[in-house]
Amino acid sequence: MFQTNPMSRRSFVALTAVGALAAGLAGCAPRTTPTDKADETISCDVLVIGSGASGTTAAAEAALSGADTVLLEKHGGSGLAASSSLAIGTLYGAGTKLQEAAGIEDTPDGLLEYFMTRGGDKLDPDMQQFCAEHFGETIDWLSEELGVPFKEKVSKKGSDTVPRGHNIDDRDEVALEIMNKRAQEAGVRFVFNTAAESLIVGPDGKIEGVMAARPSGKRVQIDAKRTIIATGGFCRNVEMINEYCPDYQGVYTEVGEGCTGEGLQMGLDIGAAYIGHGGTNGILACPVEAGQSKLIDKKAMWIDSSGKRFVNEDGQTHDIYYTVSHFPDQIFYAVYDQAMVDALDEHLANCFEMGLERGYFSQGDTVAAAAEDLGLDGAAVEAQLTAYNAMAAAGSDSEFNKKQENLVALTEGPFYVLSMGVCTHGSFGGYHVNTDFQVLDEQGEIIENLYAVGEVSCGTFIYDDYPAGGCGLNYAYTSGRWAGKNAAQAVLA
Ligand SMILES: Cc1cc2nc3c(=O)[nH]c(=O)nc-3n(C[C@H](O)[C@H](O)[C@H](O)COP(=O)(O)OP(=O)(O)OC[C@H]3O[C@@H](n4cnc5c(N)ncnc54)[C@H](O)[C@@H]3O)c2cc1C
Repeated sequence: MFQTNPMSRRSFVALTAVGALAAGLAGCAPRTTPTDKADETISCDVLVIGSGASGTTAAAEAALSGADTVLLEKHGGSGLAASSSLAIGTLYGAGTKLQEAAGIEDTPDGLLEYFMTRGGDKLDPDMQQFCAEHFGETIDWLSEELGVPFKEKVSKKGSDTVPRGHNIDDRDEVALEIMNKRAQEAGVRFVFNTAAESLIVGPDGKIEGVMAARPSGKRVQIDAKRTIIATGGFCRNVEMINEYCPDYQGVYTEVGEGCTGEGLQMGLDIGAAYIGHGGTNGILACPVEAGQSKLIDKKAMWIDSSGKRFVNEDGQTHDIYYTVSHFPDQIFYAVYDQAMVDALDEHLANCFEMGLERGYFSQGDTVAAAAEDLGLDGAAVEAQLTAYNAMAAAGSDSEFNKKQENLVALTEGPFYVLSMGVCTHGSFGGYHVNTDFQVLDEQGEIIENLYAVGEVSCGTFIYDDYPAGGCGLNYAYTSGRWAGKNAAQAVLA
C-alpha cells in the first residue's frame, strides 16, 4: 500500500514558479554597449546568433550560398542549450511527398485556410501565405535532399481535419545533427561559449554586427555585413514572460537552457518592434516526470479544482493546455482507480509511487477521501465520478464526446487523485519581420542588415493560439533556410 502526503494545490504552483524563477534569473546576462572596447575582433559576411534549428539552418544556407559565415553560440556546443535539441520532431506542412505516399490529398491553399481560422487572420496575411506555401517544401527538402528520416505515418494535429503532422524518426536531434554537419561541411566558422550582448549600430542606423562576451569576461566584437538573430524564445526569462505573456506567469518550463531572451532584448533596445499576443506553446505536465508523461492518461477522468470534468480527455493536448493555463491555479486532476494503477509498467509505477510519496497524488478507499486529501470537494468529485461511470456503462460521453475506447468506468478501489499541471515549450512573441525575415522597426521600416528567424520572430506568424503541433519547428527550419540565403545574396549582390 502506498503512503500519502497531503499537498496543497498552491505548493505545486509554488514549486513550478520557483523553478522558473531560478531559471530566469540565471539568464539575465548584463548588457554591453557597442562602444565597449573589444579584446578580440572577428569579421565575416554573415553572422548567425544561436545554434538551434533556425540558426544552424541559416548558417548552412548562407555558407552554401557563398558567404563567409560565423555561427555564434553562448553555450559550449552546437544545439546543447537549444529547444530544438529537446523537440519531439513534428513538422507541420501541406502538399508533401510523404502525404502523397500515404494517400492524403492536400495543398498549401488548404493549409492557408486552416492557418487563417487559427488566428492567422489577425496577423500579416503575407506571412501566413509564405508559411503555408513553404512548410511542405521544407519537409520535402529535409527528407528528400538532406536525408532526414521521417516516419511514414502523417498525423492530425491541432483542430485540423487533414493529417499534416510529419514526424522525424526519432526526434529533432537527428535533423539538427544532419544540419550541423551540413553547416560544418559548408565552411561555417563556429564560435562557442560566446554570448551576443548588444547590436552594433553604424552612424547610418545600419547594423554592423554585435558585441559579445566570453565567460572569462573577454569582449569579442564581431563585424558582420549581415546579422541573423536565431536565439530562440524567452520562456526562461521571468521578467519577459511576466511582461509579454502574463497569462503564463509562474508556469514551469521545459525549454532549452539557452532560451533566456537577451537575443530579443538587444534588438528591442535599438528600436526593433515587438510583435506578440501573449501566447505560448506548451503541454500538460506531470510533477514527477518531465516530457509527455504517460501518467497523464486519457483513460483517467480529468477534473478541475471544483471537482468537475472540464474537457474531453482525449482531445488535442494544445487546446487542453490553453484551457488549464487559464485556470487560476493552472492545475487539473486525473482520477485513477486501482485497475489503472495495476496496469502501469515498471517505470510509470515508480513515478506513481514518487508522486504519492511527494504528496502530488493521493489515495483513498473512496474517491471522495482521495480528493479531500488534496483539498478538493470530495462530494463533488464523487458525484462527477458516478456520472462518468454511468456514461461509460452506456458507452457514450454525452458531456464531452470522449472516444468510447478511452471511456472506461473507474470502479475498483482504492481510488487515486493525481494533480497535474502545464508546462511551456516556447513563447510566441518577438521580432516583427517581413517575409524576407528582415527585422522591422516600430514604424514598419526595415532595420538594415538585420534578420530574425525561428522562435525569436515567430510572433509574426503565430497569434496567441498555436495552430498545430509542428508549426514551431517548421517555422524555425523554413525561416532559417530563407534568411540564410537572403542574407548571403544581399552581401554578394
Ligand atoms: C520539449 C520540447 C518539445 C518540442 N517539440 C516540438 C515539436 O515536436 N514540433 C514543433 O514544431 N515544435 C516543438 N517544440 C518547439 C520548437 O522546438 C522550437 O520552437 C524551435 O526548436 C525553436 O528553434 P530556434 O532555433 O528558434 O531556437 P532554439 O532551438 O531554442 O535555439 C536557440 C539557440 O540560441 C542560443 N542563444 C540564445 N541567446 C544567445 C546569445 N545571446 N548569444 C549566443 N547564442 C544564444 C541558445 O543557447 C540556443 O542554442 C518543442 C519545444 C520543447 C521545449
